[in-house]
Amino acid sequence: MRKKLAIANWKMNKSRAETREFCQQLRQVAPDLTGVEVVICPPFTSLDVVAQELGDTEMRWGAQNCFWERQGAYTGEISPLMLRDLGCSYVILGHSERRQILGETDAVINRKLIAAIEAGLIPVLCVGESLQERENHRAREVVKEQLDQDLRNLVAPAGGLVIAYEPIWAIGTGVNASSDDAQEMISFIRERLAQYLGREFAAGTPILYGGSVNSNNIAEIMAEEDIDGALIGGASLQADSFAAIARLIANA
Ligand code: PEP
Repeated sequence: MRKKLAIANWKMNKSRAETREFCQQLRQVAPDLTGVEVVICPPFTSLDVVAQELGDTEMRWGAQNCFWERQGAYTGEISPLMLRDLGCSYVILGHSERRQILGETDAVINRKLIAAIEAGLIPVLCVGESLQERENHRAREVVKEQLDQDLRNLVAPAGGLVIAYEPIWAIGTGVNASSDDAQEMISFIRERLAQYLGREFAAGTPILYGGSVNSNNIAEIMAEEDIDGALIGGASLQADSFAAIARLIANA
């Protein structure tokens, strides 16, 4: 059976004090969460706070980005080894905000992905189409192209991989993809993954949906066969709403 995941992507939000408060609240509202791996991805500046506050629980944490080199003259960058040093298990790569706002290409994402795996991190690779691409019936083609390039030269990682299907038009808009559309794309992603890395690896890889997930829509999304959890932005910023979603994922 595949692992279920509830991953919080805080983006550029929360001070260290706010992070501490969130973690303490999360421990109170969700002391008994089983059947789902909960992962908090705060800004780099709060990773150590999450590690201090949640280090003795089953919950995990991760970063929202990393560089592809281990160390050296790369001003402003953070290496995957530094993230391991902070106890990170995961790193989000290829988020559409980084692709669109910071100009990250698939070639760059591919380098980061390989470096993250080498360092012992589990990448959460984000793929997804724009509204225009969906309206022009190009969604599959776009996602296939992203996967082809992002996963190039990858050998099935022993530590695993997570993929998040995040249609760009659903991120932060309050308009989520229908569960049918999400299932259709996620089963397509699993099929592609089988071609790149083998059927067994694909069958065991968690593939998540992301885009305006909340406690009202997650149960319907999770009822789909291939969807193993969610990457959650806005609704992950409050401990109670995030815990409610995580619980619904666990119970699905
Ligand atoms: C995200 O940024 O990964 C995301 C899914 O955001 P939101 O849940 O706010 O749409």
